[in-house]
Amino acid sequence: MEEKKAKIEISRPKERQPMGLQDHGTVDIACADCGEILMEFLIVQTNEELSKRGLDPMSCKVMVRCGLCNGKSYIQEVHGQFYPGTPSDEMSFEPTGEKIDGCDFVFKAWK
Ligand SMILES: [Zn+2]
Repeated sequence: MEEKKAKIEISRPKERQPMGLQDHGTVDIACADCGEILMEFLIVQTNEELSKRGLDPMSCKVMVRCGLCNGKSYIQEVHGQFYPGTPSDEMSFEPTGEKIDGCDFVFKAWK
């Protein structure tokens, strides 16, 4: 079976940057079926910074269900401390509370 590698794109946050947060980029999670970017995780502290402050590194495997095509994203690992968000104000999201093997959090995102 061919292994599908999750693609994590690190990009600069857009203009909606929350106040008081340092800019560490974002991790976009796209639907594997329709390609729509469903969620954007804003990295507020990298693992390097957490370890400098004597804190444990954080990493978290997330998957997002797509409310547009009823598909889902691949499971992606997000490193560091982050805030979940969406790429635009048109999108909403919520955690589904599902328990899936190999995945820490499942979200659903829709327009
Ligand atoms: Zn989709």
